[in-house]
Amino acid sequence: MSFSFDTKCELCDIKLKNDCCRLAQLYGMILFAQNIGSDALKITTENVLVVNKLNELSDSVLGIYFNVDETVNLYTLEIDGERLKKLYDVMYIDVNGKIDLTVSGALTENDCCVDAFLRGAFLIGGYTSNPENSYHFEISTPYYTLAKSMRDFMLRLDFPVKTVVRKSNYIVYMKDSESIEKFLYRVGAKASTFSFIDSKIQKEMNNYSNRVNNTKLHNIEKTLNKSVEQVKAINIISDKIGLDSLESDLAYAARLRLENPDKSLNELVQISHGRLSRSGLNRRLNKLTDIASKLN
Ligand SMILES: [Zn+2]
Repeated sequence: MSFSFDTKCELCDIKLKNDCCRLAQLYGMILFAQNIGSDALKITTENVLVVNKLNELSDSVLGIYFNVDETVNLYTLEIDGERLKKLYDVMYIDVNGKIDLTVSGALTENDCCVDAFLRGAFLIGGYTSNPENSYHFEISTPYYTLAKSMRDFMLRLDFPVKTVVRKSNYIVYMKDSESIEKFLYRVGAKASTFSFIDSKIQKEMNNYSNRVNNTKLHNIEKTLNKSVEQVKAINIISDKIGLDSLESDLAYAARLRLENPDKSLNELVQISHGRLSRSGLNRRLNKLTDIASKLN
């Protein structure tokens, strides 16, 4: 399953000790429903654990249940009538006239409840990409005022969120990996946080070793290009005047290069057992190139 799906499964496993937090988490789940109307409220999710959690909470807090409808990989939870009225009353949701949703300060007053509310909002409206591929976290809603209010709420908690419109949804999102980690940890998804950090480290290590390998390849390429040039020069000298016409160290350097075309300067020095120093060898190889270009 996806990282997001697994994170939600982990969050559904959390046992809530305080009544205040149960209400706050339920509030987060309700507020980010896909359809909040005066006659009915509808929530869709692909995760059966989320379905069960929502009904568990609404039963324990308000003694009410949602009707559940299941189609291919998608569950729709629906509530209407008296149960809906009761839900809206407790959550300060006003659906008369223009629906103007915002995050209620009254239900998110305590620190413990803030975490529970965020968890609830993520369970219904949230998504986080697989950290192996990218860093993207979002909570979406079809309600503009709610997106704005959620953005301000999260900004106050130091989450660097922005908003964007996608199709008919308002997206509150962030792409900073440390902030996503902080969110996951804060709402209690400890295992997901660790696997997030783990993929991040893995990715950084891979990037690092790619960089090192690229540098190595680049150096090897440079050495070979230089050597091809030198071998060409030495062949020209050999054809036109013969290597024996060169002074002895120069002739030695020429033969050393001809016999070891794939070796670096340092390796040639080693092969020569110190007969020539690195700089001495380099000077002579350059001189051979000069001679060849004059002969040409
Ligand atoms: Zn609480």
